[in-house]
Amino acid sequence: MKKHNFSAGPCILPQTVFKEASEAILNFNNSGLSILEISHRSKDFVSVMDEAQKLSLELLGLEGKGYKALFLQGGASTQFIMTAYNLLQNKAAYLNTGTWSTKAIKEAKLFGEIDEVASSADKNFNYIPKGYSIPSDADYFHCTSNNTIFGTQMKEFPNSPIPLVCDMSSDIFSRKLDFSKFDLIYAGAQKNMGPAGTTLVIVKESILGKVQRQIPSMLDYQVHIKKDSMFNTPSVYAVYVSMLTLRWLKKLGGIEAIEKINNKKAETIYNEIDRNPLFKGYAEKEDRSIMNATFTLTEPKLEDLFNDLWKAAGINGLNGHRSVGGYRASMYNALPLESVEILVTVMKELETQA
Ligand code: PMP
Repeated sequence: MKKHNFSAGPCILPQTVFKEASEAILNFNNSGLSILEISHRSKDFVSVMDEAQKLSLELLGLEGKGYKALFLQGGASTQFIMTAYNLLQNKAAYLNTGTWSTKAIKEAKLFGEIDEVASSADKNFNYIPKGYSIPSDADYFHCTSNNTIFGTQMKEFPNSPIPLVCDMSSDIFSRKLDFSKFDLIYAGAQKNMGPAGTTLVIVKESILGKVQRQIPSMLDYQVHIKKDSMFNTPSVYAVYVSMLTLRWLKKLGGIEAIEKINNKKAETIYNEIDRNPLFKGYAEKEDRSIMNATFTLTEPKLEDLFNDLWKAAGINGLNGHRSVGGYRASMYNALPLESVEILVTVMKELETQA
């Protein structure tokens, strides 16, 4: 039986993508070769890379606006380093909204002074700080749009007087935003875009080349731009599956269409969390993520029963992160509404059996 996969990442991808991706392992583009055995410089793969880059910019509405799309390696964690390496000359401003922001700050401190403009650490990151100001003498402002572990999401982004850098690993391509507000966006593929192994970086070229230090080639955005993400062997298969997922999203109607479905899924689960006295949401209501819903049981003694019920319903990946506990329902783009409805049925069932 196919599971209802609420895993936080790597996570569910569209079923049609799984099918096409598996076919390409045996016979890619009817070439008689597997996608796994061809050169990254072959015509067929170069066109996959081009299409993946083009679709990324197109879906975000950033074509022809001075941005480049790169498919790099090393995960979003390497972007914590690369952003600072390429952009931080003296000082950078960071908003601390969780584990991943904290890690980004730690890496950036190796390169210069960090001004933590606000933090929600005082309440174990269950909200998004507001009302902070961004120093105009910093080199850039960094934020995390969606906090995968805590289930909070930025609903508004500041009008930053300095370049705006955003880690969108867990909500890229999920909702409409004015993406031209951002100067650099990065996202590990393994949530809304594809399998683990590649990281999308969208960068406005005009912000680069301003730091004095020498940058090692593999960590230099300008090198990767010049080589069109082929400075070294890219993650061929991860880029291919990402391209298929982006094609799927475009066919569905793009971000506008998926946002409606994502909102419906989020509304379905949060309504039940708020209605059912056995559950309590973790994040502040106004900051709730439409990608990751975090919640706990109000009666801990029901844990075994609830776990048995959701597992019996074919649900996978519902346990919360160890730093929050409880449960986390990750509802990325490819998760069908039907899976959320099944989870809600199980939550109601707990109420009946408790
Ligand atoms: N940022 C966010 C928001 C994440 O959710 C994650 C991983 N879940 C990371 C960064 C780290 O990504 P990676 O494992 O690709 O380095």
